[in-house]
Amino acid sequence: MAVDLTKHEVPVASRGTCFLCGQEFGSGQLGQEHVFAKWLQGKFCLWDRTLVLLNGTEIPYRSLKTPACAACNNVSLSKVEAKVARALPDGAAAVRALGHEVLYLWVAKMFFGILYAEALLPLDRKAREAESILEPGALDGFRFMHLTMQAARTSLTFNSDETKYHSSIMVFPVQEHPNPAERFMYRDDVNFGCVAVRLGTVGVICVTDGGAQERLADEVFAALYSHQLHPLQFEEISAKVFAKARTFTRTPKYISTHVNGESTFLQMPMGGLSESPIFADYDHEEYARMLATFTSHPLHLIWPGDGSVQTWIRSYKEPYFIDVAEHPWP
Ligand SMILES: [Zn+2]
Repeated sequence: MAVDLTKHEVPVASRGTCFLCGQEFGSGQLGQEHVFAKWLQGKFCLWDRTLVLLNGTEIPYRSLKTPACAACNNVSLSKVEAKVARALPDGAAAVRALGHEVLYLWVAKMFFGILYAEALLPLDRKAREAESILEPGALDGFRFMHLTMQAARTSLTFNSDETKYHSSIMVFPVQEHPNPAERFMYRDDVNFGCVAVRLGTVGVICVTDGGAQERLADEVFAALYSHQLHPLQFEEISAKVFAKARTFTRTPKYISTHVNGESTFLQMPMGGLSESPIFADYDHEEYARMLATFTSHPLHLIWPGDGSVQTWIRSYKEPYFIDVAEHPWP
């Protein structure tokens, strides 16, 4: 479908506005898209599990919905969900083979869908003033993400001499947890555009950073892409990537062209050593705090104070193997 993205804007959150295409509808005309798709909730028993929202309250996955029109819900996004659902039983290699666009759309739908839902949910369910969890204007900060999500419904081409895609997408094989209730994990960092999802035997990490971390990961994490990670090890990689994202010193810039409803984005060079480094110094303590949070381990065990940080991977070149059947976690 030809969609004009020349003057794309993030929709103002409303129950009558589709979160993806931004079209406004009359009351009662819009369906509700599950932010976490029904197949996902069924496969990983998520209906009654809860997600923590930005204000610290919890919401069951089954209640987390966002207004979407029939075309976006039943056609554009359904296609993406179907592709991921079909590839998942074949493991990480099959999921990776879906390519950057499908995986980005799948992850971004959850990330942005949660935000859109938060812009509609009342901050205080008892208060009369209908202040929302997320101030609706905050969605404007995600303009580029929302713009690139339009690839679900129109042709959107990305070009760069430096990176594969406008976001880093990393896919890892993970051992399946013996307990079906522990086979799913979602976490994101709204301020730094990071998402990590563990679903069964696959872990996916996405960072909206012009592909900068993926370029590094292809060197540093190469052996991990084919290692059967323990869920703890996947958390360790997630913490590494989330902490690294905080040191990113660039805001990727694009030249976009829109012709006959087809959009092309050319990413400008991020620059290397000639200017300031793309990543600033790594903060080991911040990383340690993140790792402690992600793994629910006490900080004094993760960060004993001698400068070292606990690692379950030990070596990126020859990662340590931990059998999840013998050592289940979480
Ligand atoms: Zn729509």
